[in-house]
Amino acid sequence: MKPSLTDTLCTRCGLCCDGSLFADVELAGRAEATRLEAMGLEIEDEDTNCALLTQPCRALRRARCGVYAHRPECCRTFECRLLQDVRRGAAGVEQAGAIIAEARKRIGRVRELMARLGQHDGRLPLGEICAEALARDPDPLPQVNRKRAELETAMSAVEESIRRTFLDGAGRSHAPRAAGRPG
Ligand code: SF4
Ligand code: SF4
Repeated sequence: MKPSLTDTLCTRCGLCCDGSLFADVELAGRAEATRLEAMGLEIEDEDTNCALLTQPCRALRRARCGVYAHRPECCRTFECRLLQDVRRGAAGVEQAGAIIAEARKRIGRVRELMARLGQHDGRLPLGEICAEALARDPDPLPQVNRKRAELETAMSAVEESIRRTFLDGAGRSHAPRAAGRPG
């Protein structure tokens, strides 16, 4: 059987689950949140009607969903811009694979810069860790400030490329898809 597009691409990606694209995702309701909490996932209650699945998602195993058969509705229905482009023939599968690899490389570089600045809390979304690294007061050491400037530039480029490649036209700003990931 031919592998699905999500099997082929999403299993190499995981950016909509690991905190790179989203800080959290909106769940369908309290019942779904309770079910996910029972599986060990981290949920935040926004108000009585809205629960959020925080990212990076605890169910993510490398680029695969560890609760694939039980993933929430938002993950079942989300398709990023890139996946939509491939489906409608605007991009090829190999081309999309290369785009994902390049995005992961750029994000890896941002993470490396943050780690060098002593900022590497893997439990936070990418944007939040980066904002913390950049919010510090200027350092007496010029090389540290240079590293921060490098981080700021690299993160701006990542944000722009994420918006253009994965989010624009994806329909939702707030719901990821973990894709074809047989546990
Ligand atoms: S839906 Fe898009 S961002 Fe999410 S894993 Fe698949 S290719 Fe990556
Ligand atoms: S598909 Fe949903 S539940 Fe699975 S790892 Fe991604 S965000 Fe988590």
